[in-house]
Amino acid sequence: MHNNIQEDLKLFNILVQEFLTSEKNQPTANYIPAEQIKNKVDLKLKDKGISKTRFQELIRQVLLKTPKTSSKLFFNQLFGGRHSKAVLGDLLTVFLNNSMATYKIAGLQVNIEKQVIKKVCQLIGYPKNSGGTFPTGGSMCNFMSLVMARDKKNKEIKELGYNNQKMVVYTSESAHYSISKNTSFIGIGKKNIRYIKSNDKGAINTLLLEQQIKKDIKNNFTPTYLNATAGTTVMCAFDDIRKLVKICKNYKIWLHLDGAFGGSVIFSKKHKILVEGINKTDSFCFNAHKTLGAPLSTSVLVVKNRSNLLYSFNNEAKYLYQTENKEYNLGRTSFECGRRNNALKFWTLWKSIGTNGLEKMVDYEFSLADYARSYISSNKDYILYSFDNSLSICFNYKNINPKKLCTKLYEQNKLLVGYGEFSNNTFIRLVTINSQNTKEDILNFFVILEKFAQKLLDSKNQNE
Ligand SMILES: *Cc1c(COP(=O)(O)O)cnc(C)c1O
Repeated sequence: MHNNIQEDLKLFNILVQEFLTSEKNQPTANYIPAEQIKNKVDLKLKDKGISKTRFQELIRQVLLKTPKTSSKLFFNQLFGGRHSKAVLGDLLTVFLNNSMATYKIAGLQVNIEKQVIKKVCQLIGYPKNSGGTFPTGGSMCNFMSLVMARDKKNKEIKELGYNNQKMVVYTSESAHYSISKNTSFIGIGKKNIRYIKSNDKGAINTLLLEQQIKKDIKNNFTPTYLNATAGTTVMCAFDDIRKLVKICKNYKIWLHLDGAFGGSVIFSKKHKILVEGINKTDSFCFNAHKTLGAPLSTSVLVVKNRSNLLYSFNNEAKYLYQTENKEYNLGRTSFECGRRNNALKFWTLWKSIGTNGLEKMVDYEFSLADYARSYISSNKDYILYSFDNSLSICFNYKNINPKKLCTKLYEQNKLLVGYGEFSNNTFIRLVTINSQNTKEDILNFFVILEKFAQKLLDSKNQNE
Protein backbone atom coordinates (compact mmCIF):
# COMPACT_ATOMS: atom_id res chain seq x y z
CA MET A 1 0.00 0.00 0.00
CA HIS A 2 1.66 3.21 -1.14
CA ASN A 3 -0.93 5.62 0.20
CA ASN A 4 -1.67 4.69 3.81
CA ILE A 5 -1.79 7.56 6.27
CA GLN A 6 -1.90 5.34 9.39
CA GLU A 7 1.21 3.49 8.32
CA ASP A 8 3.05 6.68 7.38
CA LEU A 9 2.15 8.37 10.66
CA LYS A 10 3.75 5.46 12.49
CA LEU A 11 6.82 5.81 10.30
CA PHE A 12 6.81 9.55 10.97
CA ASN A 13 6.92 8.99 14.71
CA ILE A 14 9.76 6.51 14.47
CA LEU A 15 11.81 8.75 12.19
CA VAL A 16 11.23 11.88 14.23
CA GLN A 17 12.27 10.14 17.44
CA GLU A 18 15.45 9.03 15.76
CA PHE A 19 16.05 12.50 14.39
CA LEU A 20 15.59 14.12 17.81
CA THR A 21 18.08 11.69 19.35
CA SER A 22 20.61 12.38 16.63
CA GLU A 23 20.08 16.12 17.00
CA LYS A 24 21.06 15.80 20.65
CA ASN A 25 23.99 13.42 20.22
CA GLN A 26 25.38 14.90 17.06
CA PRO A 27 24.14 18.49 16.77
CA THR A 28 25.76 19.10 13.38
CA ALA A 29 25.08 16.88 10.36
CA ASN A 30 28.24 15.70 8.63
CA TYR A 31 29.25 18.15 5.95
CA ILE A 32 28.95 16.75 2.42
CA PRO A 33 30.13 18.97 -0.45
CA ALA A 34 27.17 19.68 -2.75
CA GLU A 35 28.56 17.78 -5.77
CA GLN A 36 29.21 14.68 -3.65
CA ILE A 37 25.64 14.23 -2.43
CA LYS A 38 24.82 12.17 -5.49
CA ASN A 39 27.36 9.54 -4.44
CA LYS A 40 25.94 9.31 -0.91
CA VAL A 41 22.16 9.31 -1.25
CA ASP A 42 20.00 8.06 -4.10
CA LEU A 43 17.90 11.14 -4.91
CA LYS A 44 17.26 10.24 -8.57
CA LEU A 45 13.63 9.96 -9.65
CA LYS A 46 12.90 6.92 -11.79
CA ASP A 47 10.03 5.24 -13.69
CA LYS A 48 9.54 2.65 -10.97
CA GLY A 49 8.80 3.31 -7.32
CA ILE A 50 10.79 1.59 -4.55
CA SER A 51 9.95 -1.00 -1.91
CA LYS A 52 8.70 -0.06 1.54
CA THR A 53 11.93 -1.01 3.29
CA ARG A 54 14.15 0.84 0.83
CA PHE A 55 11.88 3.84 1.05
CA GLN A 56 12.10 3.94 4.86
CA GLU A 57 15.86 3.63 4.82
CA LEU A 58 16.18 6.34 2.20
CA ILE A 59 14.00 8.80 4.11
CA ARG A 60 16.07 8.10 7.22
CA GLN A 61 19.24 8.96 5.30
CA VAL A 62 17.71 12.13 3.96
CA LEU A 63 16.72 13.23 7.45
CA LEU A 64 20.06 12.50 9.09
CA LYS A 65 22.12 14.11 6.33
CA THR A 66 20.16 17.40 6.37
CA PRO A 67 21.63 20.35 8.33
CA LYS A 68 20.16 20.43 11.84
CA THR A 69 18.79 23.93 12.22
CA SER A 70 17.15 23.35 15.59
CA SER A 71 20.20 21.98 17.39
CA LYS A 72 22.19 23.76 20.07
CA LEU A 73 25.09 24.36 17.70
CA PHE A 74 23.18 26.16 14.96
CA PHE A 75 23.79 29.91 15.06
CA ASN A 76 24.03 30.49 11.34
CA GLN A 77 20.70 32.14 10.63
CA LEU A 78 18.20 34.35 12.38
CA PHE A 79 16.01 31.36 13.14
CA GLY A 80 16.77 28.35 15.31
CA GLY A 81 15.27 26.04 17.88
CA ARG A 82 11.67 24.96 17.87
CA HIS A 83 8.80 25.52 20.26
CA SER A 84 6.82 22.31 20.52
CA LYS A 85 3.45 24.07 20.68
CA ALA A 86 4.13 25.90 17.42
CA VAL A 87 5.36 22.70 15.78
CA LEU A 88 2.18 20.96 16.89
CA GLY A 89 0.09 23.71 15.33
CA ASP A 90 1.99 23.45 12.07
CA LEU A 91 1.66 19.67 11.89
CA LEU A 92 -2.09 20.09 12.33
CA THR A 93 -2.07 22.67 9.54
CA VAL A 94 -0.71 20.03 7.18
CA PHE A 95 -3.52 17.67 8.12
CA LEU A 96 -6.27 20.25 7.92
CA ASN A 97 -4.94 21.59 4.61
CA ASN A 98 -7.20 24.61 4.32
CA SER A 99 -6.51 27.56 2.10
CA MET A 100 -6.96 30.89 3.83
CA ALA A 101 -8.67 32.51 0.84
CA THR A 102 -12.27 32.23 2.05
CA TYR A 103 -14.32 31.51 5.14
CA LYS A 104 -16.05 28.72 3.27
CA ILE A 105 -12.81 26.71 2.94
CA ALA A 106 -11.02 27.76 6.13
CA GLY A 107 -13.85 28.34 8.62
CA LEU A 108 -12.68 29.22 12.10
CA GLN A 109 -9.06 29.22 10.91
CA VAL A 110 -9.98 32.63 9.52
CA ASN A 111 -11.03 33.75 13.00
CA ILE A 112 -7.74 32.41 14.36
CA GLU A 113 -5.74 34.46 11.87
CA LYS A 114 -7.86 37.52 12.56
CA GLN A 115 -7.39 37.09 16.31
CA VAL A 116 -3.60 37.06 15.99
CA ILE A 117 -3.66 40.14 13.74
CA LYS A 118 -6.02 41.98 16.06
CA LYS A 119 -3.94 41.22 19.13
CA VAL A 120 -0.72 42.36 17.43
CA CYS A 121 -2.43 45.60 16.34
CA GLN A 122 -3.63 46.22 19.90
CA LEU A 123 -0.18 45.52 21.34
CA ILE A 124 1.49 48.12 19.15
CA GLY A 125 -1.27 50.69 19.58
CA TYR A 126 -2.79 50.66 16.09
CA PRO A 127 -6.40 51.97 15.89
CA LYS A 128 -9.58 49.92 15.45
CA ASN A 129 -9.60 50.13 11.66
CA SER A 130 -6.17 48.46 11.41
CA GLY A 131 -5.68 45.05 9.85
CA GLY A 132 -3.13 42.66 8.48
CA THR A 133 -2.26 39.36 6.91
CA PHE A 134 0.23 36.47 7.04
CA PRO A 135 2.45 36.75 3.95
CA THR A 136 4.93 34.01 3.05
CA GLY A 137 7.86 35.73 4.77
CA GLY A 138 9.46 38.99 5.78
CA SER A 139 10.51 39.78 2.21
CA MET A 140 6.92 39.41 1.06
CA CYS A 141 5.69 41.56 3.98
CA ASN A 142 8.04 44.30 2.83
CA PHE A 143 6.87 43.90 -0.74
CA MET A 144 3.19 44.19 0.18
CA SER A 145 3.88 47.31 2.21
CA LEU A 146 5.62 48.89 -0.79
CA VAL A 147 2.61 48.12 -3.01
CA MET A 148 0.30 49.83 -0.52
CA ALA A 149 2.63 52.83 -0.29
CA ARG A 150 2.67 53.21 -4.08
CA ASP A 151 -1.11 52.92 -4.34
CA LYS A 152 -1.66 55.40 -1.56
CA LYS A 153 0.63 57.89 -3.26
CA ASN A 154 -1.04 57.41 -6.63
CA LYS A 155 -4.37 55.59 -6.79
CA GLU A 156 -4.32 55.27 -10.59
CA ILE A 157 -1.14 53.27 -11.12
CA LYS A 158 -2.93 50.05 -10.27
CA GLU A 159 -5.24 50.54 -13.29
CA LEU A 160 -3.21 52.63 -15.71
CA GLY A 161 0.40 51.73 -14.98
CA TYR A 162 3.04 54.32 -14.24
CA ASN A 163 2.70 57.81 -15.61
CA ASN A 164 5.61 60.22 -15.59
CA GLN A 165 5.82 60.34 -11.82
CA LYS A 166 9.32 59.49 -10.61
CA MET A 167 8.81 57.74 -7.28
CA VAL A 168 11.68 57.21 -4.84
CA VAL A 169 12.14 54.77 -1.97
CA TYR A 170 14.30 55.40 1.12
CA THR A 171 16.04 52.92 3.34
CA SER A 172 19.28 52.69 5.26
CA GLU A 173 22.35 51.03 3.79
CA SER A 174 21.96 48.40 6.53
CA ALA A 175 18.44 47.37 5.46
CA HIS A 176 17.51 43.90 4.25
CA TYR A 177 18.23 43.10 0.61
CA SER A 178 14.55 42.44 -0.09
CA ILE A 179 14.03 46.22 -0.36
CA SER A 180 16.22 46.22 -3.44
CA LYS A 181 14.41 43.31 -5.10
CA ASN A 182 10.98 44.65 -4.18
CA THR A 183 11.71 48.06 -5.70
CA SER A 184 12.69 46.29 -8.89
CA PHE A 185 9.57 44.03 -8.90
CA ILE A 186 7.23 46.97 -8.40
CA GLY A 187 8.70 48.82 -11.36
CA ILE A 188 10.06 51.81 -9.48
CA GLY A 189 13.54 50.54 -10.25
CA LYS A 190 16.59 49.87 -8.12
CA LYS A 191 18.22 53.14 -9.22
CA ASN A 192 15.42 54.99 -7.41
CA ILE A 193 16.31 53.63 -3.99
CA ARG A 194 18.14 56.10 -1.80
CA TYR A 195 20.41 54.21 0.56
CA ILE A 196 20.92 56.52 3.51
CA LYS A 197 24.09 56.11 5.53
CA SER A 198 23.83 54.46 8.94
CA ASN A 199 25.26 55.95 12.10
CA ASP A 200 28.07 54.10 13.91
CA LYS A 201 25.59 51.66 15.44
CA GLY A 202 23.91 50.73 12.18
CA ALA A 203 20.74 52.83 12.53
CA ILE A 204 19.64 55.21 9.78
CA ASN A 205 21.09 58.73 9.90
CA THR A 206 17.95 60.86 10.04
CA LEU A 207 19.71 64.14 9.18
CA LEU A 208 21.08 62.73 5.95
CA LEU A 209 17.65 61.25 5.23
CA GLU A 210 15.93 64.60 5.43
CA GLN A 211 18.59 66.26 3.30
CA GLN A 212 18.11 63.62 0.62
CA ILE A 213 14.32 63.98 0.65
CA LYS A 214 14.61 67.75 0.15
CA LYS A 215 17.04 67.25 -2.69
CA ASP A 216 14.71 64.73 -4.37
CA ILE A 217 11.72 67.03 -4.14
CA LYS A 218 13.76 69.80 -5.73
CA ASN A 219 14.63 67.45 -8.58
CA ASN A 220 10.99 66.52 -9.21
CA PHE A 221 11.05 63.10 -7.60
CA THR A 222 8.11 61.88 -5.50
CA PRO A 223 9.21 60.58 -2.07
CA THR A 224 6.92 57.57 -1.57
CA TYR A 225 8.15 55.01 0.91
CA LEU A 226 10.59 54.70 3.77
CA ASN A 227 11.64 51.29 4.98
CA ALA A 228 12.83 51.53 8.58
CA THR A 229 14.30 48.53 10.36
CA ALA A 230 13.76 47.13 13.84
CA GLY A 231 16.78 44.85 14.11
CA THR A 232 19.01 45.14 11.04
CA THR A 233 20.04 41.77 9.66
CA VAL A 234 23.74 42.02 10.55
CA MET A 235 24.03 44.31 13.59
CA CYS A 236 20.45 44.07 14.92
CA ALA A 237 20.30 47.89 15.08
CA PHE A 238 17.01 49.69 15.66
CA ASP A 239 16.16 52.79 13.64
CA ASP A 240 14.82 55.78 15.59
CA ILE A 241 11.10 55.48 14.83
CA ARG A 242 10.03 58.65 16.59
CA LYS A 243 12.27 60.81 14.41
CA LEU A 244 11.26 58.94 11.27
CA VAL A 245 7.57 59.37 12.07
CA LYS A 246 8.00 63.14 12.07
CA ILE A 247 9.93 63.19 8.80
CA CYS A 248 7.48 60.88 7.03
CA LYS A 249 4.48 62.85 8.21
CA ASN A 250 6.06 66.05 7.00
CA TYR A 251 6.76 64.77 3.50
CA LYS A 252 3.78 62.39 3.21
CA ILE A 253 5.91 59.28 2.97
CA TRP A 254 4.63 55.81 3.88
CA LEU A 255 6.58 54.56 6.90
CA HIS A 256 7.05 50.82 7.00
CA LEU A 257 8.87 49.19 9.89
CA ASP A 258 10.63 45.98 8.92
CA GLY A 259 10.84 44.08 12.21
CA ALA A 260 11.48 40.68 10.63
CA PHE A 261 14.39 40.17 13.02
CA GLY A 262 13.84 42.42 16.06
CA GLY A 263 10.15 43.25 15.83
CA SER A 264 9.22 40.69 18.48
CA VAL A 265 10.38 43.21 21.10
CA ILE A 266 6.74 44.37 20.96
CA PHE A 267 6.01 41.51 23.37
CA SER A 268 8.48 42.75 25.97
CA LYS A 269 7.70 45.56 28.41
CA LYS A 270 11.41 45.99 28.92
CA HIS A 271 12.53 46.07 25.28
CA LYS A 272 9.62 47.57 23.38
CA ILE A 273 11.20 50.97 24.00
CA LEU A 274 13.43 50.03 21.05
CA VAL A 275 10.42 50.55 18.75
CA GLU A 276 8.89 53.53 20.50
CA GLY A 277 6.65 55.40 18.09
CA ILE A 278 5.59 52.19 16.34
CA ASN A 279 1.92 53.16 16.74
CA LYS A 280 2.52 56.01 14.28
CA THR A 281 3.98 53.85 11.50
CA ASP A 282 1.83 52.93 8.48
CA SER A 283 2.79 49.26 8.49
CA PHE A 284 4.90 46.86 10.49
CA CYS A 285 6.00 43.26 10.15
CA PHE A 286 7.83 40.68 12.20
CA ASN A 287 8.82 37.03 11.85
CA ALA A 288 7.70 34.70 14.62
CA HIS A 289 9.96 32.10 12.97
CA LYS A 290 13.02 34.15 13.82
CA THR A 291 12.95 34.75 17.57
CA LEU A 292 9.88 32.93 18.82
CA GLY A 293 10.65 29.36 17.82
CA ALA A 294 7.81 28.97 15.30
CA PRO A 295 8.59 26.94 12.16
CA LEU A 296 9.33 28.73 8.89
CA SER A 297 7.57 30.77 7.85
CA THR A 298 5.44 32.67 10.35
CA SER A 299 5.37 36.29 9.22
CA VAL A 300 2.87 38.86 10.34
CA LEU A 301 2.18 42.09 8.43
CA VAL A 302 -0.07 44.69 10.05
CA VAL A 303 -1.35 47.91 8.54
CA LYS A 304 -2.61 50.93 10.42
CA ASN A 305 -5.44 51.47 7.97
CA ARG A 306 -6.92 48.24 6.72
CA SER A 307 -8.48 49.94 3.69
CA ASN A 308 -4.99 50.29 2.16
CA LEU A 309 -4.61 46.52 2.21
CA LEU A 310 -8.01 46.05 0.64
CA TYR A 311 -7.43 48.71 -2.01
CA SER A 312 -4.15 47.19 -3.19
CA PHE A 313 -4.93 43.49 -2.95
CA ASN A 314 -8.64 43.02 -3.51
CA ASN A 315 -9.62 41.55 -6.85
CA GLU A 316 -12.99 40.21 -7.96
CA ALA A 317 -13.14 36.42 -8.43
CA LYS A 318 -16.68 35.11 -8.74
CA TYR A 319 -15.63 31.47 -8.72
CA LEU A 320 -13.99 32.01 -5.32
CA TYR A 321 -15.87 34.53 -3.20
CA GLN A 322 -19.30 33.00 -2.79
CA THR A 323 -20.28 33.37 0.87
CA GLU A 324 -19.73 35.72 3.83
CA ASN A 325 -18.57 39.31 3.59
CA LYS A 326 -15.09 40.43 2.62
CA GLU A 327 -13.98 40.74 6.25
CA TYR A 328 -13.94 36.95 6.41
CA ASN A 329 -12.68 36.19 2.91
CA LEU A 330 -9.00 36.75 3.54
CA GLY A 331 -8.08 36.28 -0.11
CA ARG A 332 -9.26 39.84 -0.56
CA THR A 333 -6.37 41.15 1.48
CA SER A 334 -3.59 38.76 0.51
CA PHE A 335 -1.08 38.38 -2.30
CA GLU A 336 -1.67 34.67 -2.84
CA CYS A 337 -4.83 32.87 -3.94
CA GLY A 338 -4.31 29.45 -2.33
CA ARG A 339 -2.57 30.50 0.85
CA ARG A 340 -1.08 28.19 3.44
CA ASN A 341 -2.40 28.56 6.96
CA ASN A 342 0.59 30.09 8.74
CA ALA A 343 -1.47 31.53 11.58
CA LEU A 344 -2.46 28.36 13.42
CA LYS A 345 1.08 27.54 14.64
CA PHE A 346 1.53 31.02 16.06
CA TRP A 347 -1.91 30.88 17.68
CA THR A 348 -1.25 27.48 19.31
CA LEU A 349 2.02 28.87 20.66
CA TRP A 350 0.54 32.16 21.88
CA LYS A 351 -2.58 30.53 23.34
CA SER A 352 -0.54 27.97 25.28
CA ILE A 353 2.09 30.27 26.83
CA GLY A 354 0.23 33.58 26.73
CA THR A 355 1.64 37.00 25.92
CA ASN A 356 3.67 36.64 29.14
CA GLY A 357 5.32 33.54 27.74
CA LEU A 358 6.28 35.33 24.53
CA GLU A 359 7.66 38.19 26.62
CA LYS A 360 9.80 35.76 28.61
CA MET A 361 11.27 34.30 25.42
CA VAL A 362 12.25 37.72 24.09
CA ASP A 363 13.70 38.92 27.40
CA TYR A 364 15.61 35.69 27.81
CA GLU A 365 17.19 35.99 24.35
CA PHE A 366 18.35 39.52 25.19
CA SER A 367 19.84 38.22 28.43
CA LEU A 368 21.73 35.52 26.49
CA ALA A 369 23.08 38.31 24.26
CA ASP A 370 24.22 40.27 27.34
CA TYR A 371 25.92 37.16 28.61
CA ALA A 372 27.75 36.59 25.31
CA ARG A 373 28.82 40.24 25.10
CA SER A 374 30.19 40.28 28.62
CA TYR A 375 32.09 37.04 27.94
CA ILE A 376 33.73 38.68 24.93
CA SER A 377 34.47 42.01 26.60
CA SER A 378 36.18 40.32 29.51
CA ASN A 379 38.58 38.38 27.28
CA LYS A 380 41.27 40.36 25.48
CA ASP A 381 41.70 37.78 22.72
CA TYR A 382 38.40 39.05 21.34
CA ILE A 383 37.34 42.24 19.59
CA LEU A 384 33.67 43.13 20.03
CA TYR A 385 31.89 45.09 17.29
CA SER A 386 28.33 45.17 18.58
CA PHE A 387 26.35 47.23 21.04
CA ASP A 388 23.91 46.73 23.87
CA ASN A 389 20.24 46.04 23.13
CA SER A 390 20.95 43.76 20.21
CA LEU A 391 20.62 40.03 19.58
CA SER A 392 23.66 39.99 17.26
CA ILE A 393 27.01 39.58 18.88
CA CYS A 394 29.68 40.46 16.34
CA PHE A 395 33.30 39.69 17.14
CA ASN A 396 36.65 38.43 16.00
CA TYR A 397 38.97 36.08 17.87
CA LYS A 398 42.78 36.37 17.91
CA ASN A 399 42.67 38.21 14.56
CA ILE A 400 41.76 35.03 12.74
CA ASN A 401 40.08 35.60 9.38
CA PRO A 402 36.38 35.21 10.24
CA LYS A 403 35.37 33.87 6.81
CA LYS A 404 37.97 31.15 7.06
CA LEU A 405 37.10 30.30 10.65
CA CYS A 406 33.33 30.05 9.99
CA THR A 407 33.84 27.92 6.88
CA LYS A 408 36.27 25.55 8.58
CA LEU A 409 34.00 25.17 11.61
CA TYR A 410 31.25 24.16 9.19
CA GLU A 411 33.30 21.81 7.02
CA GLN A 412 34.71 20.03 10.05
CA ASN A 413 31.26 19.64 11.67
CA LYS A 414 32.07 21.70 14.77
CA LEU A 415 29.26 24.26 14.67
CA LEU A 416 27.35 26.50 12.29
CA VAL A 417 27.84 30.25 12.53
CA GLY A 418 28.13 32.95 9.89
CA TYR A 419 30.07 36.13 9.29
CA GLY A 420 28.91 39.62 8.49
CA GLU A 421 30.22 43.02 7.50
CA PHE A 422 29.63 46.48 8.83
CA SER A 423 31.56 49.72 8.28
CA ASN A 424 34.61 48.05 6.72
CA ASN A 425 34.90 45.32 9.34
CA THR A 426 34.24 41.64 8.75
CA PHE A 427 33.40 39.59 11.81
CA ILE A 428 31.73 36.47 13.16
CA ARG A 429 28.05 37.02 13.98
CA LEU A 430 26.67 35.00 16.86
CA VAL A 431 22.89 35.38 17.22
CA THR A 432 20.96 34.54 20.37
CA ILE A 433 17.60 33.87 18.74
CA ASN A 434 16.97 30.40 20.16
CA SER A 435 15.29 30.61 23.56
CA GLN A 436 15.98 26.91 24.15
CA ASN A 437 19.68 27.65 24.44
CA THR A 438 21.08 28.14 27.94
CA LYS A 439 24.04 30.21 29.14
CA GLU A 440 26.00 26.95 29.19
CA ASP A 441 25.22 26.47 25.50
CA ILE A 442 26.55 29.93 24.74
CA LEU A 443 29.65 29.24 26.79
CA ASN A 444 30.02 25.95 24.94
CA PHE A 445 29.92 27.88 21.65
CA PHE A 446 32.97 29.89 22.75
CA VAL A 447 34.77 26.82 24.09
CA ILE A 448 34.38 24.96 20.79
CA LEU A 449 35.41 28.02 18.81
CA GLU A 450 38.48 28.72 20.94
CA LYS A 451 39.68 25.12 20.88
CA PHE A 452 39.24 24.95 17.14
CA ALA A 453 40.94 28.31 16.59
CA GLN A 454 43.91 27.16 18.66
CA LYS A 455 44.29 24.09 16.46
CA LEU A 456 44.20 26.28 13.37
CA LEU A 457 46.86 28.57 14.79
CA ASP A 458 49.04 25.62 15.85
CA SER A 459 48.92 24.00 12.43
CA LYS A 460 49.67 27.35 10.79
CA ASN A 461 52.72 27.80 13.00
CA GLN A 462 53.93 24.31 12.15
CA ASN A 463 53.57 24.96 8.46
CA GLU A 464 55.62 28.13 8.61
C1 LIG B 1 15.17 37.99 7.72
C2 LIG B 1 14.87 39.36 7.39
C3 LIG B 1 13.97 39.65 6.34
C4 LIG B 1 13.45 38.60 5.42
O1 LIG B 1 12.54 37.74 6.01
P1 LIG B 1 12.22 36.35 5.28
O2 LIG B 1 11.11 35.78 6.10
O3 LIG B 1 13.48 35.56 5.33
O4 LIG B 1 11.82 36.68 3.87
C5 LIG B 1 13.63 40.97 6.13
N1 LIG B 1 14.15 41.94 6.89
C6 LIG B 1 15.01 41.71 7.90
C7 LIG B 1 15.53 42.84 8.72
C8 LIG B 1 15.41 40.40 8.17
O5 LIG B 1 16.31 40.16 9.15
